[in-house]
Formats: sequence, C-alpha cells, structure tokens
Amino acid sequence: MFFALTNSGKSITLLKMTVSEIHQLKKEQPFYCPHCNGELILKVGSKKLPHFAHKYICPVKPEGETAAHLSGKKLLHDWLVAQQLQPKMEIYFPDINQRADILFYWKKKPFIFEFQCSSIPVNELERRTKAYHQANFTPLWITHQDKIGKISNHILSITDYLSFFITNFPQNSEPMILAFHPEKRQFQLIYHFMPISTRKVLVQQMNIGYQTTLQQLFSFQKPIPQHFFQYWYIYAEKWLFHLPLYNNARRNKFLTFLYQNNIHPTKLPMEVGVPVPYMILIETPPIIWQTYIFLFLFNENRGRRYIFLKELTNYLQKIVKEGLLRFRLTQYSFLANKYMPIKKYLVFLENVGLVKLKEDKLFVNTSRMTNVHYRKTRQQSFNQFLEKNRGKILQLFY
Ligand SMILES: [Zn+2]
Repeated sequence: MFFALTNSGKSITLLKMTVSEIHQLKKEQPFYCPHCNGELILKVGSKKLPHFAHKYICPVKPEGETAAHLSGKKLLHDWLVAQQLQPKMEIYFPDINQRADILFYWKKKPFIFEFQCSSIPVNELERRTKAYHQANFTPLWITHQDKIGKISNHILSITDYLSFFITNFPQNSEPMILAFHPEKRQFQLIYHFMPISTRKVLVQQMNIGYQTTLQQLFSFQKPIPQHFFQYWYIYAEKWLFHLPLYNNARRNKFLTFLYQNNIHPTKLPMEVGVPVPYMILIETPPIIWQTYIFLFLFNENRGRRYIFLKELTNYLQKIVKEGLLRFRLTQYSFLANKYMPIKKYLVFLENVGLVKLKEDKLFVNTSRMTNVHYRKTRQQSFNQFLEKNRGKILQLFY
C-alpha cells in the first residue's frame, strides 16, 4: 500500500515523497492500515517500490502485494492522472468492506480498476465483482500480462482464472481481455475469441503502448483477418474428428445424442459450429451447443412450419439445467446478457434463410441447408459454404 495512518492518526502517502523523505519517515514507525487498523511496516528496498506492508494479514485484501502489483497500480494511476481523470488509489468502501486499487470517473460514471497479478480463486473475484456492482461501481479487472501465457498459432489456453477477465468494458463492445505489463509499460488486448473447445480458444492479440488513452484503448477497430476462418475450420474439424476418441462422459452424452438422432459427427451440417460474436461466453464447445439448437429446430420438430420462441427458450433452459450447455464465469456476466451468442446464432440462421423470426414464432425452412455430400470431403463442403456465407458471418461481428 502507498497510504497509511501515523501513530497520531494523520493520513500519509508515499506517492509524492523522495527516497530520503521516505527514509526519514521510517523513523516514525509504527504505521497503521486506514482500513483494518492493522500494523504496517514501511518497506524500502530495491525490488519493490517503497510501500507499507501489513505485519499480519489484512482482512480487507489478504493476498498482499507483489512488486508487479505495486508498480502496476502506480503506473495505471499515473496513466489516468495524465488523462485528467482524477483517479484515487486504495479507496476503501466500508459498506462492502472492499479496497479498490483505483477509483476514477469516466463519462460521469464511477469505475474501478483492479490490477491482478496473482491467481486468487475465481469465486473470490466473483464475490468482489458482485459487491462492486451492488454498490453501483463498474469494476474492470486487468490481469498481469504474464498470466496470459503463450499464444501460439493464435491459440490461447484459457483457464477459469483468465475467463473471469473477459469483459465488455466500457459497454456494448465485443468481449475482450485487458492485460497490463508494468515492466514493459504496455497493455495487451485479447479479442475475437473463437473457442474450439472448453479450453482452446482462437484469439487475436494486440500490444498497445502506455501513451494510448483510455478512450483509444477501447475504440480500436479490430477487423477479422480472412485467414482466421481457415484456422477456425482446421481446429474445429480436428476437434470434431477426435470427438469419438475421447473417453469423457460429457462428450459421450453429446455423442449419444447424435446417435439417437441418427447423425454421425462428420455428417453434421456446415451450419453447425459457426463462429458468432460473444461465443466465448459459453463454455460448452460451439459445435456441441449449436448442434443442440440446430437439431431442436430442424430435427426434433420436423414437419412443423414454425416453432414458438418460447419453446426454444424452454428447451435452452432445460439443457442448461441438465449441464449440456454451460456458461463461463466472466466479469462480463454481470453486465450483459449471456444468451447473446445464441441470439447471434439465430441471426446467422436467419441470414442464411433457414429460419425467419416473425413476432413470437420462428418459421423454419430446411431447403437451403448445406448438406455434407458423401462425394465431397468436408473441406470441400466447408470451402463452398464459406464462399457463400463469409459475408453473412462477418456481418455478425460489425
Ligand atoms: Zn489492512
């Protein structure tokens, strides 16, 4: 921490002090935590910025502070100062018993930055996020870039911890993860998430300099490169072909479901497993959740001209309850509708003429379906499908 109380109850901060002033201050020990009253030690060393550390654990934020956390917090604070956003550091909210790294107002609304360098349990991140929202603050969790891990061949291996950092900050934007690297003084944006499986996600990333403003950081135009769809196809097909080989109960449930419907995994129509925006919000692999919806519309209700939207909603609730469709726990979940990817998938089906939404009914039309022809390979079918529908998929993202 950079703030403390002296023995006489005076509030002090190390932020604007010189090293010799800090050494002078050290003689005035002990110091106290302004939030829990616990005793603090003033630490001046070479590895970390001068700071106050709890002698015992602080009940408000028990995880302590690493060198990266201290310098990251200070850099993010200075970054907002330079943009005249008047940030306040280490602000304590007694009502919810939480201490925010940084509080600032942007477009007249209160936001909180939490810079996370250690993998604390996701349910703890969830608890703190919930409390901030209840107190009408919008938190933005930023992870240390080292926590992202290596992205090779555009594939990010996403953990539960990383999933939580998926945000739509500031609002209505596509999901992204914001990371910061204090030593390199750079931000990293991860975006255009296209999950292949629960853990493997095709992503794009961008390193952004410290000089960039908050406004600029969230308004970058991020076109989807053409080759992305080929990557997507290769990874998704690989996943599909390996599907029957894994001995995993949840996947077996899906395979059983396919066999009951008389469909071999490689004979799934091309309209299943389409990249749609927000699909990262669903943890179940895209081919699985889209198949459930697809077969509900076109197989289970075969012969009907239309299906009531309410029937689809009931079906979705049922498969969520049964654990066949699972959502990821993200900080996004607090701000937006997690059913967005499903809505976008329905828009796609409408764009390719398979369904038509009219008031509370979904009219179905299977005559335009791209069936996998037995003479053609899936690659050929896919290329044909992509040629015809690339624009329709892309327009979902803009
Ligand atoms: Zn404390």
